[in-house]
Amino acid sequence: MKRVSVTDKERYEVLRSMLEDRRSEIHAKLRSLRESLPAEAGDVRDVEEQSVDDFVQEVDFALMEMKSETLKQIDEALRRLDNGSYGHCVECSEEIGEARLRALPFARLCRDCQAEQEERIASERESRAAEGQFARVVS
Ligand SMILES: [Zn+2]
Repeated sequence: MKRVSVTDKERYEVLRSMLEDRRSEIHAKLRSLRESLPAEAGDVRDVEEQSVDDFVQEVDFALMEMKSETLKQIDEALRRLDNGSYGHCVECSEEIGEARLRALPFARLCRDCQAEQEERIASERESRAAEGQFARVVS
């Protein structure tokens, strides 16, 4: 069993508190969105009332998605911290710089691999767009 260093423990605490922060942040956002909805919703006709309900449901759904995505990232970071792979690039196993981790605590890739991945995604998107254009021209 790998000895957990003080740094790892500190990181664990940082990520944990970040998790809590994110949670309350998301809850606060949800609350403020609810408050920004028309307060007189109870007086309006049924159709409008229905659309307000729909809107609330949409907002709830979007926030739930955002929340689960963020929590997933935090959970993954905590898991990686537990098994000792946190702070190492999942692509090339290089250590991810301290400054980068501070700015992006959920970073899974080192700067180089991240840049490479972004380039790959961008060029895939480009070639897909080009294909789409081609399809339009020939059809
Ligand atoms: Zn890498």
